Formats: sequence, C-alpha cells, structure tokens
Amino acid sequence: MELPFAESWKIKMVEPLRKSTRQEREQWIKEANYNLFQLKSDQVYIDCLTDSGTGAMSDRQWAAMMMGDESYAGSSSFFMLKDTITRITGFEYVIPTHQGRAAENVLFSHLVTPGAIVPGNSHFDTTKGHIESRKAFAVDCTVDEAKDTQLEVPFKGNVDPVKLEKVLAENADKVPFIIVTITNNTAGGQPVSMENLRQVRAIADKYGKRVIFDSARFVENAYFIRTREEGYGDKTIKEICKEMFSYADGMTMSSKKDGLVNMGGFIATRHEDWYEGAKRFCIPFEGYLTYGGMNGRDMAALAVGLDENTELDNIETRIRQVQYLAARLDEFGIPYQRPVGGHAIFVDADKVLDQIPKEEFPAQTLAIELYLEAGIRGCEIGYILADRDPVTRENRFGGLDLLRLCIARRVYTNNHMDVIAVALKNVFDRRHEITRGVKIVWETELMRHFTVKLERL
Ligand SMILES: *Cc1c(COP(=O)(O)O)cnc(C)c1O
Repeated sequence: MELPFAESWKIKMVEPLRKSTRQEREQWIKEANYNLFQLKSDQVYIDCLTDSGTGAMSDRQWAAMMMGDESYAGSSSFFMLKDTITRITGFEYVIPTHQGRAAENVLFSHLVTPGAIVPGNSHFDTTKGHIESRKAFAVDCTVDEAKDTQLEVPFKGNVDPVKLEKVLAENADKVPFIIVTITNNTAGGQPVSMENLRQVRAIADKYGKRVIFDSARFVENAYFIRTREEGYGDKTIKEICKEMFSYADGMTMSSKKDGLVNMGGFIATRHEDWYEGAKRFCIPFEGYLTYGGMNGRDMAALAVGLDENTELDNIETRIRQVQYLAARLDEFGIPYQRPVGGHAIFVDADKVLDQIPKEEFPAQTLAIELYLEAGIRGCEIGYILADRDPVTRENRFGGLDLLRLCIARRVYTNNHMDVIAVALKNVFDRRHEITRGVKIVWETELMRHFTVKLERL
C-alpha cells in the first residue's frame, strides 16, 4: 500500500484556540458592523481571513532571529537577506520595506505618474490603490477563463497576450511597466504559466517596456508550474523560480506570504536606474537602505524563510493542505473557483446565495453566515473589495463575488479543514432560507473593505 501524504514538519509549540456559542457570535458580528475585519481575534475560532503574516515560523527562523544584526547601516542581516534574494531571483539590487504595499509605494513613487496606464493580470487591491491614487489607471488583461469559476484550466491566472498587446499598441507611450501578479490573487490564487511569462516578456520587449512581478506567492506559482506544465516535473523549485524571474525586470514582494514571516517586504531589480530612483523614496518613507522598515532580526528570519519555502517538501505540504480542503468541498458539491489555487479556497458566492441581488453583496453575506455557523472568519473578495469606479463613483459589479477562505501556512491541521468544510456545508444546505444580504452605511473612498460599516437587511 502506498503511504499517505503527510506534513514535512512536526509541531514544537502550540497556541490555544477559543470556541464560542452562536449567541455570542451574533452579538459580536453586530458590534463589528457586519465587517469581519472589525472582529477581535479571540472572537474567531478558525481564522481564514488572510494568509498574510499569519504563518508559523520554523525553529530555524526563530534561531536566525537571535542572530539578527540591528545596526542602523550595513547590517549583516541585510546582506544575508540580499544574498538569498539574489540567489533565488537573480536580482542584484534589493530594498527592504515594511510590507508589500510599502514596496509598491516606494517603487511606484518613482515610476507611476498621473495619466499612466499599467496593464496586468487582476491587480491586487493595494497595487490598484497605489496606481489609482496617483491618478493613473490599472488595466486588467487577465484571460477570460478566470471569470468562469467552474472551468478547469491549469493556468487561470495568465495574462491574455491579445489584451495586453492591444493596450500597448494603443497607449505604449503611457505605459511605465507591465505588472504580472504571481499567483494571481484576485482571480482566485490562480497560477501563471512559464509559457505565459515568456509571452509577456516578448510583448514587453517588442514595445521596449519593463515587467514587474508582484511576487507575494511566487513559490506557490513555481509549485504549480512544476506539477502542471510540461517539462518542469523534475526541476527543483529554486530552478523554476530562477527561470520565472529571468523574464522580469524587477519585483515587489509581500514577505508576509511566501516569505514565511509575519511582517516584511522588499523591492528587487536588475536595473540600477530603478534602484537609484526607488532609493530616493525609500529613505523618507521607509528608512535607511539596509533596513527599510524592517528589524535586523526580521530580515534574518526572512532570509531563512525564503530559503526554506523554495524547497519542494515545504511548499508541497502547503499546497496539498489547500487541495485537501477543496476535495472535501467537492464531496458536498460546494462551488468554488476551480481548480483550487495556492493559498485559499474562493467560494463562488453568487452561485451559493443566488437569491441575493448583487446590490446586497452575496459574498459578504456568506462570510457573515459562515462566521455565525462556526466562528470561521473568511474574507469577501468581491463587490465590496472592488471599490467604486473612480470616475462614475458607481459600485463595480463586473467581476466575481467570492468568499475567500485563506489557509495560514503551517498553522492549522487537516482536522480544522474538516470543520471548515462541514460548516460551509451546513450553510450551503440552508442557502434557500438566506434571501437578504447587507447594505453599506459608511465607507471610505479607497480600500473600503477594511473599514466599511454594514447593516443586515
Ligand atoms: C498581500 C499582497 C500585496 C500587498 O502586500 P502587504 O504585505 O499586504 O502590504 C500585494 N500584492 C499581492 C498579490 C498580495 O497578495
């Protein structure tokens, strides 16, 4: 008999979880204005709000922290981090930042001017925010297949080369760079193929443009290339990462995802002019160049985390747990973005709560129902997250309306996955009794989903 798959690590330290009653949760969610970001963490049993900064560090990472060098300038922890990044990506210039959006802020301050057009594949919300707040435009060139959640194609995160070429043919002079998000978070944690990265590179070269990878989950992307794309099955994850980044000019990174740390980010590039340009904004916004918003010990932990996560054993354990949960949802017939992506399940809320009109935000309603059912906290990735159109100020109902259940790295067991699956099944079974959603009573202009106040209808 073939041995079953199991984790490539064992547990050395545990953190107690608090369970609650439905009655308590009804009170708490009301006090939180039906916004799950406003809940206190001890009001949550299993937290699937995000996989950002929620992972467990290894004993090697904690050990590295003790060796962190807190020198203001020239910290050895910075050079340890820089050398690791250069070894994995091939990028020579590195600027640490306090998280991914700070990397965007620093680099885009140099590159994005009013009226600019930045094409890409479903820009992440902070990325879009940093483009639109500079009076520039983010143009989504994701393949149409990503919109059909039930279609099983291996690389649903891809850039549509025809759409991208059209943007460049019409507006090349306004495009400062192309941005490719690996994996494509907003489209459901879907990977981008190596072939597609090559195509984007070729189009960029044709128009003399540069390419940035928004790389928060680049290791997950490499794992999918290894398991789904012809010719990569016997390559190491590090070899695949190196090839992926060979098609980019630079990267922004949220280290809170595939860096396996709780806080941090960086910019890396092969171009001295980008480095020189970004430097001018790093110092006032983040700090001196060899720490840029990070502690020495945190840079040391990140260096080890990057090294550790780009090993097959670790990344396979991570992806296989997400696939385990997906298989349980299949048993119950619950529709989610297929095939499951790297870091989360994206439940297709429009299909589950099909009686709730778009104007009443089905995915947010499903998130509330799942919390009431079992104290599980998910996140709406849908019409609320999409913000309003910057010109018309109308809600944007054009995209998908998903409930994202993120899986933290190395935190929960498959027993927790079973609880999530059954709780969702219970809500799914009574979906026809849920006929009204929520309405917005207070919101901000940009990135409203963090602070929006809602009322239950
Ligand atoms: C998380 C994330 C960011 C922003 O990073 P933070 O560390 O949260 O600031 C940018 N892009 C993608 C794809 C992300 O997932």
